[in-house]
Amino acid sequence: MAYLGIPQNTIAVLQKYNISFQKKFGQNFLIDTHVLEKIVAAADITRDDLVIEIGPGIGTLTQYLCEAAGEVLAIEIDRNLIPILENDTLKDYDNVTVINADVLKLDLAKIIEEHAPKRFTKVVANLPYYITTPIVMQVLESGAPVESMTVMVQKEVAERLQAKPGTPDYGAITLAVQYYTTPSIAANVPMNCFMPRPNVDSAVLCLKRHLKPQVEVKDEKLMFALIRASFNKRRKTLLNGLSTGDNINRTKEELLKAFEECGLSPSVRGETLGLSDFAALANALCEG
Ligand code: SAM
Repeated sequence: MAYLGIPQNTIAVLQKYNISFQKKFGQNFLIDTHVLEKIVAAADITRDDLVIEIGPGIGTLTQYLCEAAGEVLAIEIDRNLIPILENDTLKDYDNVTVINADVLKLDLAKIIEEHAPKRFTKVVANLPYYITTPIVMQVLESGAPVESMTVMVQKEVAERLQAKPGTPDYGAITLAVQYYTTPSIAANVPMNCFMPRPNVDSAVLCLKRHLKPQVEVKDEKLMFALIRASFNKRRKTLLNGLSTGDNINRTKEELLKAFEECGLSPSVRGETLGLSDFAALANALCEG
């Protein structure tokens, strides 16, 4: 078995199949065995698990996942890489299925149900940078029973997703991710661990799904509308941001009444509020 985490083996596959990296697909392949081992350790994979890998590339991380998991589903958009995965780099593993698809267009819940409904499902991936956030949100919002995501992302994105209220990195996406999961950074990964080398540093981010919701919300859509409006108008007070925000449809008076019920000052800024504040505000507006 030629492990692709060893740079010479990756170079040999690239040359054998005359592969040129597809920038449009965010192709930066891992070439560092220590980082690969760290990802697998952080994901805490066992033989009971179904692992969904998004973007296997030529199969570098997939080889490690196949050795640790019960089953692996590898979803790759680049059809030129499929025969390489199936007939060469993953051919020694009988617990992997390669799917040629755009993950953003897949019904993940259905695929899990078809392949391994009884297993614990974990997503593990070295994500393409250009669509990191849409992929993370797609998995979290899909309703698929995914218990954790362990993903390589741009370092700034990892920091943003685990930011605290009132810090410059804190944003609507932070709250959306923290609504579903507890984020933590398992490792920082420098640019030279990839081929080709990206222009940014990366981090392995673990998102562990909450077993039960952190906050009770009567109308999730309204809460997310409040969060989006509050960060769209970051420089305005929360009250002004919300009174002109999309899909909120409440007068300033109604908003003020809800603020008062939640103990919020009319001059408060949204970026200082936590998830429980937004949930309380959404609930107060539902009742009002
Ligand atoms: N897992 C490999 C590794 O670690 O070396 C490759 C990671 S590379 C950063 C990202 C991979 O995601 C590429 O193989 C790319 O073709 C694939 N990809 C990009 N967009 C995708 C999408 N929408 N759906 C599925 N795969 C995608």
